[in-house]
Amino acid sequence: MNMINTNLPTAELQKLDAAHHFHPFTDKAGLAAKGARVILRGEGVWLTDSEGHRILDGMAGLWCVNIGYGRKELAAVAARQMEELPYYNTFFQTTHVPAIALAAKIAELAPGDLNHVFFAGSGSEANDTNIRLVRRYWQVKGQPERRTIIARWNGYHGSTMGGGSLGGMKPIHAHGGMIDGIAHIGQPHWWAEGGDMTPEDFGLMRAQELEAKILELGADKVAAFIGEPVQGAGGVVIPPSTYWPEIQRICNKYGILLIADEVITGFGRTGNWFGSQTFGIKPHIMTIAKGLSSGYQPIGGSIVCDEVAEVVGSGGEFFHGYTYSGHPVAAAVALENLRIMQDEGVVEHVRDVANPYLAERWAALADHPLVGEAKLVGLMGSIALTPDKAKRAQFASEEGTVGFKVRERCFANDLIMRHVGDRMIISPPLVITPAEIDVLIERARKSLDEGYKIIKDEGLLVAKAG
Ligand code: PMP
Repeated sequence: MNMINTNLPTAELQKLDAAHHFHPFTDKAGLAAKGARVILRGEGVWLTDSEGHRILDGMAGLWCVNIGYGRKELAAVAARQMEELPYYNTFFQTTHVPAIALAAKIAELAPGDLNHVFFAGSGSEANDTNIRLVRRYWQVKGQPERRTIIARWNGYHGSTMGGGSLGGMKPIHAHGGMIDGIAHIGQPHWWAEGGDMTPEDFGLMRAQELEAKILELGADKVAAFIGEPVQGAGGVVIPPSTYWPEIQRICNKYGILLIADEVITGFGRTGNWFGSQTFGIKPHIMTIAKGLSSGYQPIGGSIVCDEVAEVVGSGGEFFHGYTYSGHPVAAAVALENLRIMQDEGVVEHVRDVANPYLAERWAALADHPLVGEAKLVGLMGSIALTPDKAKRAQFASEEGTVGFKVRERCFANDLIMRHVGDRMIISPPLVITPAEIDVLIERARKSLDEGYKIIKDEGLLVAKAG
């Protein structure tokens, strides 16, 4: 008998949820008082909730449902694989066909000599793998003191102890602390922190903080640098054009391994298969997850270059792995997802159709009185809300107050658009059509209009002093 009863009334589901379901990144008491929104179904870019609302998912779930909801091919592959071989591990000198085929496919898609895939169950796990991998690399090379990894403030690399430590989010560090051997430098967030500098000068300056940090720590102590090609959870921060070339130059100069966290930017999000291609980055390791399976199954991994794989591989057993590394059902589903993306030209659709169409309409939102800047790369975009465009001012109210109010209007208008502080962000399924982009923009503008009125009426349209 099916144990999932979707016919319970919403209030009943919410009550059970509040009683037994401990949500991630959620104020438990606050949610219990309000009741969680219950999502029942998805089709393409659309979600249906338990109240019958048809919601446009402007976030592709959590940046992951790249091919959209409801693809029956993926369900069929999962069912077939479960019947054939639902599970087997990849420890102890064994393997299976889905893991082999998926690793080979990823190596084919990844640029350069990124030819080796270490599988994990998520992006956080993959970044924990990366910490161990780069430290092990330097151990085998006879430089075990090279173990510090440099990352950025306001970067996001997951919420395990390793991933959360690599990330530069102080509230996460505050809940449980950090692991040792991680250092942070400033982020290339020109809108919020660039002052009077040009974006290009600011990007260069922030990249050069890497060199200063390397010299401060001692180059012989630094194992790697990690960064997202575009910071996602930090508010879709698209770096100035000068940033990544300078980071690359500095990593090369000091022989430091470069890890591109492509958990969001991988698999088409920026209009290429990988964000590293969009920004001209040549990483030694890429972190992947999310779009790899379009979120239909939990799977992540690290794509490792020949040299790092050879060095770590020459050091005897690598004491690391997960029960679900290369899980056959997840691998088979990911493979089918990649087949669909290739056969249907999903990356080309982003590059040639959806990005150009959305870019124009998104940029036009900058004429709204509440919007200071509207930026987009591929299909990830941000809007900076501000009480004073010319000064790129922040609001006097606590950061996030205004963003939350606009987010609430989006919810009310059946559009999922997230807020990060006082920035609004989108990352819709990559298969979104021009007609659906029209709906997204129409609902976003309506929500901004309504939000603007509320913010004005509540006296919140005030710039922070200084
Ligand atoms: N890295 C990046 C860049 C991410 O955006 C995320 C998730 N938002 C992660 C890592 C962590 O992935 P997961 O939630 O699958 O552990």
